[in-house]
Amino acid sequence: MVKCQVVMDAMDRIAPRALAEDWDNPGLLTGSPAQNVHRILVCLDVSEAIVDRAIAEDYDMIVSHHPLIFRSLKQVRTDLPLGGRLQKLLAHGIAVFAAHTNLDIAAGGVNDVLAARIGLAAAEPFVVTKTGELVKLAVYVPAAYASQVRTAISRAGAGFIGNYSCCTFNVAGQGTFLPQAGTHPFLGEPGTLTTVDEVRIETILPAQIQSRVLRAMLKAHPYEEPAYDLYPLKNPGEPAGLGRIGKLPQAMTVAAFARQVCSGLQAAYVRLIRAGDRPVHKVALCSGSGAEFIAKAAFQGADAYVTGDVKYHDAQQAVDLGIHVIDAGHFPTEFPVVAELADRLRAVLQKTRGGAEVTADTTARDFFEVVS
Ligand SMILES: [Zn+2]
Repeated sequence: MVKCQVVMDAMDRIAPRALAEDWDNPGLLTGSPAQNVHRILVCLDVSEAIVDRAIAEDYDMIVSHHPLIFRSLKQVRTDLPLGGRLQKLLAHGIAVFAAHTNLDIAAGGVNDVLAARIGLAAAEPFVVTKTGELVKLAVYVPAAYASQVRTAISRAGAGFIGNYSCCTFNVAGQGTFLPQAGTHPFLGEPGTLTTVDEVRIETILPAQIQSRVLRAMLKAHPYEEPAYDLYPLKNPGEPAGLGRIGKLPQAMTVAAFARQVCSGLQAAYVRLIRAGDRPVHKVALCSGSGAEFIAKAAFQGADAYVTGDVKYHDAQQAVDLGIHVIDAGHFPTEFPVVAELADRLRAVLQKTRGGAEVTADTTARDFFEVVS
């Protein structure tokens, strides 16, 4: 058993809330961070069937991709579908948590799972929504302890520049300090001006891991009051964004690619909007509903764009722009993340004291079916 807050923290590591779009509504939607959680059901939608299953099978928390409460509520009418579901969830003390656009954007989230399923090996963010902030840490360490502190901050994740890790710059100098009454200096004595051979260690780190790196630095540093500086940097950090763009290992016909998408997603069908005979090598994708980015995919040179919820005039625009579009459906492009998310959440919670059982929903089905 864990507190709901522990699950929320685990989800924030998998899909940081700061990545979500401004209009979105991720996070804890019913329940309390203080409530106990034994069993978690991971799903795409908090449907009536999911709520009934959670009650019948004693789940005390639901983690979904689509937020159950999305627009602001002005009443909770229990005779209507949403109000009825909220009443059941509250009556049974079931917490509901959503990770929506933050899970779309996060590394290993909905779009990375989709990219892997359709055969895109290395894919980058397609519609960049945020660029990570970077900070510089400069810390002053007695020379004999420089290596220990460098190792600690590097292990905590500081010092990455591209594919180079443990990047630091080190300058030797002399530090001075006068310990005041009541201090317990590691070197020198209260009331005596002390001069020590020190090293100024500089490194770079993403702002979101700042507290972890500082904790590691303070633990490894021998001084009672380590001196350090943090500077915000204007260097752009790692881009994060919706969708992915990348290349297939080798070019193929659009018909073959459409079949690959269909089988990779275990979809019943996909709809192909064919723009001539252009072979498919570079592919853009956006899970769920991404027709608004067709032109962007074309301008970025993609041969094909995979998304869902494509309308007639979107298709017309794609053909005009000469880009193939594969509408694989909102549900089939998103549902594969459910099993992956459950695996990752289970792995994070296994490392916590108590732990909780995590189950992926496998019963949800697309609303759309083909009749011919
Ligand atoms: Zn969706």
